[in-house]
Amino acid sequence: MSIDGVESPRPPSFIRDLIEADNASGRFGGKVQTRFPPEPNGYLHIGHAKSICINFGLAKEFGGKCNLRFDDTNPTKEGVEYVNSIMEDVRWLGFEWDALFYASDYFEQLYQWAVALIKEGKAYVCDLSPEQVRSTRGTPTEPGQPSPDRDRSVEENLDLFARMRAGEFPDGSRTLRSKIDMASPNFNMRDPVMYRILHSEHHRTGDAWCIFPMYDFAHGQSDSIEGITHSLCTLEFEDHRPLYDWYCDNLGIHHPQQIEFDRLNLTNAQLSKRKLLTLVQRGLVSGWDDPRLPTLSGMRRRGYTAEGIRNFCGMIGVSKTNGIIEYNLLEHAVRDDLNKHALRVMAVLDPLKVVIDNYPAGQTEQMEAVNNPEDASAGTRPVAFSQVLYIERDDFREDPPKQYYRLSPGREVRLRYGYFITCTSVVKNEQGEVIEVHCTYDPATRGGNSPDGRKVKSTIHWVSAAHAIDAEVRLYDHLFQPGVEPKEDEDFTVALNPASLTRVTAKVEPSVAGAAPLASYQFERVGYFCADRDSTPDKPVFNRTVQLKDTWAKTEKSHQQKKP
Ligand code: ATP
Ligand code: MG
Repeated sequence: MSIDGVESPRPPSFIRDLIEADNASGRFGGKVQTRFPPEPNGYLHIGHAKSICINFGLAKEFGGKCNLRFDDTNPTKEGVEYVNSIMEDVRWLGFEWDALFYASDYFEQLYQWAVALIKEGKAYVCDLSPEQVRSTRGTPTEPGQPSPDRDRSVEENLDLFARMRAGEFPDGSRTLRSKIDMASPNFNMRDPVMYRILHSEHHRTGDAWCIFPMYDFAHGQSDSIEGITHSLCTLEFEDHRPLYDWYCDNLGIHHPQQIEFDRLNLTNAQLSKRKLLTLVQRGLVSGWDDPRLPTLSGMRRRGYTAEGIRNFCGMIGVSKTNGIIEYNLLEHAVRDDLNKHALRVMAVLDPLKVVIDNYPAGQTEQMEAVNNPEDASAGTRPVAFSQVLYIERDDFREDPPKQYYRLSPGREVRLRYGYFITCTSVVKNEQGEVIEVHCTYDPATRGGNSPDGRKVKSTIHWVSAAHAIDAEVRLYDHLFQPGVEPKEDEDFTVALNPASLTRVTAKVEPSVAGAAPLASYQFERVGYFCADRDSTPDKPVFNRTVQLKDTWAKTEKSHQQKKP
């Protein structure tokens, strides 16, 4: 996928083509109605963002509507916390549903439809256990074995099904199954289970129901009730489409078109809800919004913007084959958006003291700094300059390698918005580490330009020691170690990266004191950061959202590689 895709908000899409064909033929009367149907059993992640963008995006494009529907048919794993977080995340991403529904709203209607199928001899109560149902399904080459209960009379089935609903039978003792075709090459058509018994409190229906419809019996009919025209889902449901169609046809109800598209997979990101839940439950991350997680709440807390994520979803497009997208592409999209909007400030993550010997002690000057070179309306701000500064430790080398142009003994560099300074000497501690760098400055270079046209090869950032404030900065790396694949019998958490979070105390310019949570900044030359909700007025906390593209790191790497 080319990065240039971001320039075209409307990449080609086979789904759009299908909708256009339906509109041309008048199949749904020119209407487009989609839905985003999460199960409220976890927080949304970046994969869901793709589905949200597709469903809401296509509805908008065709002047149609998009519902939010909670597919809440499994009470044991679902809950209100998830419902609320999902609504918050969809809205944060920039979408508003036309109507809000719950599959559980349809339980009575679904029950009546099940009764109708029983009456037509198309469904039966089966006394096999879940294991027996599974073990009698057959193999790809052999048909399944019919259930001993397959030919129960309609009366008996109606009676048993009513008693299942009434709570007479324990969990797992019976199911309602469709009578379709035990020899179908498609396993989903081999008398699929429609209802199971679960004596479990449901977050919306309480204990009103103890039988719950399976996904396949609930999903298509819910779509149908809502007048969905195009039911978009991921590719693993392609094999379920015949069943989706079978229920709509046999119930004689409005029949939406199911269309499958590729699931988003990202390098170095865990998008399985079950695994995300494990990480949260075992306390291996700080919660669903841990900034290292690919959840939307985690990404939001980390400083990813809704627009950046939407642009990413536009860039990856949709297809009919599953693939894997480079995480870099997501970072590119986020960086691209932050570049347009984030205010620039100066912050030093790994401070090294610089003393400008010929600068008057006790003097402070206000330098004029540009807030956002991409946006003139963001204006400028004053930044205090004084005799003692901090620079990044990495911006000084006592013994500079080739092509290293930053500060080193005898070398002149530009301080951003400040002056040209030249390193004259260093102070070391007992271990021989440089702890202080002494420089002289040229007063004629105020603002960063020399009147005699003298050139320097490097511009570095700084903060004034007397004015800077301390901030906790949280630096994130991959949550899982790249390339580490847990073995078959190993728990997936063995691949966790023990160094995925590093906290440092940075020196930051005072303009960021009191930054509101989620406020994004570019720490010049360092990366994009956003204020965390753990910030207090005295002690700001920042999350590193994404690094800048570090050209020096690349130069150094290629330099080292060239060395024998
Ligand atoms: P599970 O069903 O195991 O709980 P799920 O990932 O399918 O997990 P749902 O809540 O059922 O989660 O998903 C809601 C919608 O989001 C579905 O239409 C699903 O296909 C879509 N979706 C989920 N994960 C992805 C993904 N990685 N890429 C694209 N769409 C996804
Ligand atoms: Mg699902």
